Amino acid sequence: MSDTPVDIAIIGGGLVGASLAVALAPLIERHGLRVAVIEASELSASGAQPSFDERSSAIAYGSRAHFEAMGIWSRLATRTAPIHDIEVSQRGAMGRTHLSCREVGTPSLGYVLPNAFLGQVLHERLASMAIDWHCPARVEAIVPAVDGHRLTLDNGCVLHAGLTVLADGGRSGLKASLGIDTDRHDYEQHALIANIETAKEHHGWAFERFTSEGAMALLPLQDRRMALIWTRPPEVIEATLALDDAAFLQALQSRLGTRLGRFQRVGTRHVYPLSMSRAREQSRPHLAVLGNAAHAIHPVAGQGFNLALRGVMDLEAAIEAALEAGRTPGEALTMANFEQRRQSDRDLIMQASDTLVRLFGLELPGIGRARGAALGLFNLATPLKRALIRRAMGMARH
Ligand SMILES: Cc1cc2nc3c(=O)[nH]c(=O)nc-3n(C[C@H](O)[C@H](O)[C@H](O)COP(=O)(O)OP(=O)(O)OC[C@H]3O[C@@H](n4cnc5c(N)ncnc54)[C@H](O)[C@@H]3O)c2cc1C
Repeated sequence: MSDTPVDIAIIGGGLVGASLAVALAPLIERHGLRVAVIEASELSASGAQPSFDERSSAIAYGSRAHFEAMGIWSRLATRTAPIHDIEVSQRGAMGRTHLSCREVGTPSLGYVLPNAFLGQVLHERLASMAIDWHCPARVEAIVPAVDGHRLTLDNGCVLHAGLTVLADGGRSGLKASLGIDTDRHDYEQHALIANIETAKEHHGWAFERFTSEGAMALLPLQDRRMALIWTRPPEVIEATLALDDAAFLQALQSRLGTRLGRFQRVGTRHVYPLSMSRAREQSRPHLAVLGNAAHAIHPVAGQGFNLALRGVMDLEAAIEAALEAGRTPGEALTMANFEQRRQSDRDLIMQASDTLVRLFGLELPGIGRARGAALGLFNLATPLKRALIRRAMGMARH
């Protein structure tokens, strides 16, 4: 059987791979591109597919424009909650900072969106597009070939792709099989996530709190619900998971205070080990690496998917520029264009999120007071604060 030629093969139909396929829709129509998406896990209405689990994601204000460009924002907006204010504080020390959308003159700082709903909307859109959808199907091997790569799928198909996009989350071994190494730092922390119901309205406030055991974030959801991310050392995570609901809510309340009234209910709890990783190569001729396969960061500032989405849009822009110049998507020049667009954003966000984790994880004499003073000063330094907010909102690029 001869190989099936495709212009672009996207390996992984998770948050990032599905977003790229949807972003390519206008190019597929205009240029007749043949795009294949290969996703290993079967999709289910319950969001059982790994990328679209029970987590919610903080979506930066700038990411909204990307979803608008993809034509799915109006649908996503029906289930998002806006973030108007963020309070950053540390437990057991003075000093806090307050970030507000009023300081940057936007209707919100960002939004919180349930991953399962994002998955549903992306896959509804994919179902209406002219793509080759292989699901469930796993790419078992990827081998360089003339002008592209040869992909062997476990459903019996063999593709020849002019451009292959690795959006497989980075754990499949495909990157390594191409000789791309990954630098990894284990934070020795786990993130516990759950939805919480509060007694009082959150009015669009998000809370970020640093404690000696790790960071906690509460993000506003629709109604009186909030998405919790609680990072804890591995040795206590099992015990935290094992607490009954009342004891769990009590443990939370003692760390987060009563600002939102009593925590009323907690949903199912899930745990994720945390590490920072970065592929040593993010692109080659005929190959791009996106999302967690390219870089995974600590979720403390809710930047991982936002950063990946900017990668998606930069790749789409590089492909569009190539097609308009009469070149093919995977050519060396296209990939160089993509890499040039990505590098500084990626470096800055990875560095900033890692610094934040390490700074607030330090336990040295007097460090709590120093951090408190820094938070207080940051609160007063309006231009610096505004610039950093705009960067975190994905509104200050390149
Ligand atoms: C606790 C937590 C909270 C987070 N919160 C936020 C947040 O608030 N905001 C934010 O911006 N980011 C957040 N992130 C980061 C965000 O979740 C990731 O950036 C995102 O999940 C990356 O998606 P992905 O599609 O790259 O990878 P994945 O979600 O891992 O998807 C990869 C897909 O590839 C498929 N696959 C794998 N191997 C193969 C193969 N060989 N063949 C075919 N298919 C394959 C898998 O089945 C999977 O569907 C958070 C992360 C964590 C852990």
